[in-house]
Parts: sequence; structure tokens; C-alpha cells
Amino acid sequence: MKRILVSVLSLIFSAAASAQTVTHPVIVPDIPGYVTMKGDMHLHTVFSDGTVWPTTRVEEAILEGLDFIAITDHVEVGLTKRIRDGLFNCDRNKSFEIARDFAKNRGVIVIHGGEITRGMPPGHFNATFVNDCEALSAASASSKNHFEGMTAALKEARRQGAFLVWNHPHWNRQAPNETVWHPEHSDIYEAGLMDGIEIFNHCDGYSPEAHHWAVEKGLTIVSGTDAHTMLASRVDYVHGAFRPMNLVFATARSEEAIYGALKEGRNAVFAEGKVYGDARFLVPLVDEILKIVSVTRSPKGVSIRIHNGSSIPVQLEKSGSTAYGYIRSITVLPGSDCTINVIPLDKGTKMDDSFSIGFKVMNFFVDAGVPLDYTLKVK
Ligand SMILES: [Zn+2]
Ligand SMILES: [Zn+2]
Repeated sequence: MKRILVSVLSLIFSAAASAQTVTHPVIVPDIPGYVTMKGDMHLHTVFSDGTVWPTTRVEEAILEGLDFIAITDHVEVGLTKRIRDGLFNCDRNKSFEIARDFAKNRGVIVIHGGEITRGMPPGHFNATFVNDCEALSAASASSKNHFEGMTAALKEARRQGAFLVWNHPHWNRQAPNETVWHPEHSDIYEAGLMDGIEIFNHCDGYSPEAHHWAVEKGLTIVSGTDAHTMLASRVDYVHGAFRPMNLVFATARSEEAIYGALKEGRNAVFAEGKVYGDARFLVPLVDEILKIVSVTRSPKGVSIRIHNGSSIPVQLEKSGSTAYGYIRSITVLPGSDCTINVIPLDKGTKMDDSFSIGFKVMNFFVDAGVPLDYTLKVK
């Protein structure tokens, strides 16, 4: 009877949302050699301590035109047991299964995940690309000691081939004064049980400490909304905001390619108008965002017209070159154009046919507090 109830509810939710459209598209270009897959790696539903049905997470992803989401309900806390046993008599994989079935033919890849939830240290970890959250839960429950329970669950997740992320190291409740890398995190890292770290969590914002640890230790930077309620209650879609998201540079539009990219660190984070990531991906990303639409030459210099066709603003500040004079600071807003006039500093000289001008991109960060160096090439 209870299983029938789950099926009937799933059907009702499916039917109610069959005519979904992209109403707030986030536009991010591909880069040479990779497709840019946009997604959220941390989401809760009513099957743990969230307030929404799993299908809502898929509908929200469609609204923004996201390519993938991970369902990461807590594997041991919150309402899981009450809902699981009391209402539906289903196991801890059910929220993923409902979202996955609903997402079929809707263009969103749903990744199977679970949040392993312990006190600090070591805190919370997300295991994604798993196949059985019941086994994660059993492993976590194998010890009352936070570190031992976590380690057992991470090992089980690794056995399932998981991508493992230390979540919100800067969560106020677990790190009230400062963000701390505890000896337990070294143990987990050295045991090969940490692939990535959340540098942005919608509840806690950006963590410069986590970003720097990721760079220092070769961890993949990850973003998650960690949404428990409807995303529209936190994201100001009306005024053009987007949820924080991952920009995964994948070799194909598939779950396997997303997994491969995350394991290899081919990810950037786009959150609150800023982008965080490695220069080897951010430089080609700016190349694809800023397109030169015209170059006009005059006896005085060169006028470059640039268009930003993406949803990401680009804040440029002059840097590097001393041979030319050009604007010190300009922001190229999403969907808009700007003009950069370049003159030779030595007035007697003529501009070369092809030349480069240097900038720092003040809202793209390769490490905590370190803006991206970018060269605009004119031919
Ligand atoms: Zn958490
Ligand atoms: Zn969470």
C-alpha cells in the first residue's frame, strides 16, 4: 500500500509539471575541447530534512537551463527515518530515483548522491555518483565516533566509485570563529577519501580558506546550493540572479563525462557574479565570453568593440602593458557591448596591426584574492 502511495504521488507530481520551460536561462559558452555543463552538486528534498518533493529539484534546474543536479539527501539525520518508515516504507535511494525518473527526456542529468552527516571534525561530506545510500548510511552508523563513522562511510562510498567532497567547511554552526583544517581532514585526505571541497555554499557563501586549500592540495573546487527549501525563496530570479553553480568542462554531454571532469578538477564555480577556477579554464572561458565584434583603426589609435553574450559579467582592470594607453577599469555586463580605445603611449609610433593589451579580471579568481590575468589579443 505504501509503495503504491509513492508511485501515485510520483505520477501526480509528474503530470503537474509536464510543461516546463527555461524561464531564467543561464548562458555560459563552451570552451575549446570541452562542453560547459552547468549544475548543482548539493540538494535536499523532503526525503531528508528538505521541504520539497524530488521532482521540484528537476523543475528548478529546468527553469535555469541547468544540465545536471545531484540529489544529496542526508543518509542518517533529519526526517529521513520518519518519512521513510512512517509514510512511504522506501529506502534512502528513493529521492534520487523519483528525480531521475522525472528528469528522463527533460534534458537534466540527475546524479545519485548522499550527504554523510557528522559533527566537526570532520563535519559533512557529499558522496555523489554512488549507487546505494543505504550502504552509506549503515557504514556511517557503524561507529558513534564522528571520525570513525565518517571514514567507514567514505570508504563504502569509494567502493561504489564516488566523488567525495568536504561540504561547507565554513558553516557557522560547525566552524563559528574560523574555518579550520583539522588533523582528521589530513587523515581523510591522505587516505585518498577527499576529491573536492565546497568553496561556495549558498547558506554560508564563499570560503577563501577552502579555495586556497583546494589550490594548494589539488582538490576540485565545488559549489552547492545545499537548498532545503524552494530555491526561489533564496535566489532573486526576478532581478536576474542565478543560484551558485558549477561549470564543469566535460568531454561530452553525459554523466560519465561530468564524473571524469570533476575527478580531474575540470570545474569552475560561478556564484554571485564571480567565477572561481584554474586559469587553464578561465582564460579560454573569458575568450569565449568576450567576443571582438569590430576593430576600427584611425591615425590616433584603435577602437575595439567587445560583446559579452553570456550571463557572466566581466570586470577588467588595466595591467601589464606599458606600450599602450587604454581604459583603466571597465565592466562588460551580460548581453552588452563596450568600446576600448587604445593609443600608443609614444605618440610618434603607429599601432601595430596585431597587438595585445593586458588586464586583471577582477571578478574571476584563480586562488583566494588572486584575480585572473587576461590578455586581449587584437589581430
Ligand atoms: Zn551539510
Ligand atoms: Zn546539505
